[in-house]
Amino acid sequence: MSDSFTIIVPERVMIPEEEARALGKRMLTWLREKAWVGNPLPGCILTRELGYRLTKNAAEIILPEDLSLFTWVADHCDQQVYGYLAIDVADELKVVHHSGQGGITSAVCPGCGQDIGEQYYDLIETWWNAEGNEDVICPACQQPSPLPAFRSEPVWGFSNLSFQFWNINARFSDDFLAAFAKELGEPVRLVTGKV
Ligand SMILES: [Zn+2]
Repeated sequence: MSDSFTIIVPERVMIPEEEARALGKRMLTWLREKAWVGNPLPGCILTRELGYRLTKNAAEIILPEDLSLFTWVADHCDQQVYGYLAIDVADELKVVHHSGQGGITSAVCPGCGQDIGEQYYDLIETWWNAEGNEDVICPACQQPSPLPAFRSEPVWGFSNLSFQFWNINARFSDDFLAAFAKELGEPVRLVTGKV
């Protein structure tokens, strides 16, 4: 069985480490107060950070039509869990959260609206190799734009802070994502995939 992930990634890239950790902690407190996540799991998860199990209450934050998908018997542990959350602050300030299996099929420039397709990989590489968070130049219109402003399919994320939900096998409701962004204080995007 492969592992699936749904990652909530802030739009903002290169968040100073101390601030990213504080934001992660604050969001964990909020999620626990809402009783959507519970106790930390024992060390039987894929990610290096502590994982927090999702509770049955977390059924409130996913789409009703996906309720039937919201079960998962862990094959990393000898217990049944409803997936888990790991909050990660990367060691590096620049991070690429990709969708795992399969690549980008389209990437639309915010300036000219053209789909630059696989040329987006070159822009990601340029951004990655630059010193700071420099804008990238669209190959179609030559306008500079922030890398995350391109709308790619599937969606990729670029923040060093990420909220990684593993094996929930369900989609979050728009209400939950809006509440999450409001609590975080900035916009987020969703990256989904499998490893
Ligand atoms: Zn363009």
